[in-house]
Amino acid sequence: MDLQPSKILIVDDILHNRIALTKVLKPLNNVEVVEASSGNEALKKLLNNDFSVVLLDVNMPGMDGYEVADIISSSQDHKHTPIVMLTAHDSSASEVLRAYEAGAIDYLTKPIESTILLNKVKQFIKISQLQAKTHYLKSERESILEAAGQGVIKFTSEGNIEFINKKACQMLGAVADKIIGSQFDKWFSHMEIEPDFDDLFMFLQTKVHKLGLYQQQIAKLIDNNKTVHLVELTCTSPKRQKNYSMIVLFQDISSRLEMESKLVHLANYDTLTQLANRACFHDNLARAINRSKRLESTVVLLLLDLDRFKQVNDTLGHDVGDELLQGVAKRLASMLRETDLAARLGGDEFAILIEDCQSSIDAEQLAKKVVSLISKPFLIQDKEICIETSIGLSRSIAGKSDKATLFKWADIALYEAKAEGRNCYKLFVPEMSVQAQKQALIQSQLRQIIDQDLLDVQYQGQFCLEENRFVGFEALVRWPKYNFGDTQVSPAQFIPIAEQSHLIHELGYQVLHQACGVLQSWQLSSDTRHLTLAVNLSAKQLNAYDFLDRLEHVLCQFDFPLAKLTFELTETAFLDNSEHVQKCMKTLINMGFSLALDDFGTGYSSLNYLQNLPFDIIKIDRCFIQRLGFCHKTTALVKAIINIADAFDMSVVAEGVENKIQLDCIAPLGCHKIQGFYFSKPIPKEEIASLISTTNITNKNALSL
Ligand code: C2E
Ligand code: MG
Ligand code: MG
Repeated sequence: MDLQPSKILIVDDILHNRIALTKVLKPLNNVEVVEASSGNEALKKLLNNDFSVVLLDVNMPGMDGYEVADIISSSQDHKHTPIVMLTAHDSSASEVLRAYEAGAIDYLTKPIESTILLNKVKQFIKISQLQAKTHYLKSERESILEAAGQGVIKFTSEGNIEFINKKACQMLGAVADKIIGSQFDKWFSHMEIEPDFDDLFMFLQTKVHKLGLYQQQIAKLIDNNKTVHLVELTCTSPKRQKNYSMIVLFQDISSRLEMESKLVHLANYDTLTQLANRACFHDNLARAINRSKRLESTVVLLLLDLDRFKQVNDTLGHDVGDELLQGVAKRLASMLRETDLAARLGGDEFAILIEDCQSSIDAEQLAKKVVSLISKPFLIQDKEICIETSIGLSRSIAGKSDKATLFKWADIALYEAKAEGRNCYKLFVPEMSVQAQKQALIQSQLRQIIDQDLLDVQYQGQFCLEENRFVGFEALVRWPKYNFGDTQVSPAQFIPIAEQSHLIHELGYQVLHQACGVLQSWQLSSDTRHLTLAVNLSAKQLNAYDFLDRLEHVLCQFDFPLAKLTFELTETAFLDNSEHVQKCMKTLINMGFSLALDDFGTGYSSLNYLQNLPFDIIKIDRCFIQRLGFCHKTTALVKAIINIADAFDMSVVAEGVENKIQLDCIAPLGCHKIQGFYFSKPIPKEEIASLISTTNITNKNALSL
């Protein structure tokens, strides 16, 4: 706090006296002397200044010193200003008394002894500075208390309110006058305190006495309107002694607690179904296994996957899909004991944890009930919807198998259940087929690969014999080289697994995204601008109702002529002859893409498809090419396929041409586009430029023609 100079007012009608007094006061530091030659002038000066002391002459013409002292000491603002009257040397006791009555606190008789005057004034200045400091600290403390976002109440040792700030008044819902003096118990009551106490005030007093500061006590505040709020109290005491007054700071934490409980709920529960979520389920399972170790009991894990849920979602839309998931969740919750836990792990995957399961028969009974309960039709938006579920079970006896193992086993059992024809359950047994174990592992690894966007894509060239150069590439997805198992898994293995577990959708978009990036980069160079790029589409992708929306979402991020992108489909895409698929295919053609019928000759290869569906390209499957040169019938068949393609104005690509013999067989039949190891294996995108500039291909080709 900076100290302002202290001001002293000298009031005397005689100039000589004023000069003499000023001279006496000269040795004082940080002091400003103000002079007034009359009572009136003195009062005027007092209007604008606070003085540490007033030296007031008694005998003045007009208003005398007594009158001036009277006015000063009765004014609200200056009643505490010390007045020292300067009286005549022969003043009587009655005159001195009059001076005191008028409000003077001291008097000096003339002639004035300079050292006495100086020391008196010094004392008054000291007192006035202390007063100013106290006043400042008090007003500072008051403004801090008022500004505090918290309620502040000071209680006497008996628990009566002695002081309350504005915020606390607001929270108690009454004005300070009505609150001061009231008892602690009138407003505050306890939620939970140590069992030795039943009185919250006593409890807090004891804590404060022991600790000095006691924080985070939650209590109930009942305001003037009888509304209950939850508040957090912080208590302290000016003195650390029992039975002393206590200061309590408090804030309303009702909305904070509500928010906290919402956050806890969000972190642990699935918002759609209100079942536990994956994280919460994992925690509970780990704890259950630990308990079962102590109790030597059995924990059972059930993993559920809805069969063909994706189909419902895709054909009837997400709203129906969501309601169906909610319906399934309700049924699951309805059949569990309080100690069991059901969770939605994500998508259409659910899990159930059964603690203290008496025997595996009990668990299997429950699984059987779940399968049959889920298979009963659901009524959603006035439609009867049927869905089935497959369940994999695994168990940990006396905590011997950990959480990860239980999940792995349940996954394998689930895979086996699905393989067995769905709508059934399987309990994991170590003898379970090695094949199922392997596939379950691939599925879980693939999920991680896709989640981390680690899929690799390679590109296999399509060589045109007529143009004597590569005219296109096919994008082929690859298992990433590092981090996922020692062995490479081929797409022929993991694509069907992706299709079965719905991972195919995300896989498809990740491949398309990478392929579009490559196609865009090709537009920058005249060496590559002519190239087309083919991307494989799974039947499942095409069947998804939001396929076109998601396709557009990818395409809008890139810039290349759409005619350069070909989608390869196999017959399975339109086996069920769905209107949706046909509409999608027509839209793709209208957008400018090319469509290729992949692996032609391996399925039904109905000529109907060729007639009714808008394909631009037929890809003759590798199995025909492999038999070329050995089997006359195959040669005739391939020739027929090429002729049909000609008739339908489609171009033909021969797949899987591995050697010169095969090339020499296919070329004369009129197939000019070749895809196979003979010209190029699938390669990373970085190697494309050097492949298309290789001249020896030209030589090879020249020889073969
Ligand atoms: P596909 O679309 O018929 O692809 C051609 C397959 O034949 C590729 O196998 C390719 O590496 C292989 N191939 C090409 N030339 C030769 C050759 O001269 N000899 C031999 N032995 N094989 C050759 P890959 O990459 O293993 O793919 C297998 C299948 O997986 C693909 O058959 C396709 O149906 C599917 N696939 C691959 N990538 C994707 C994709 O991104 N999405 C979808 N949905 N399916 C994909
Ligand atoms: Mg293909
Ligand atoms: Mg093919």
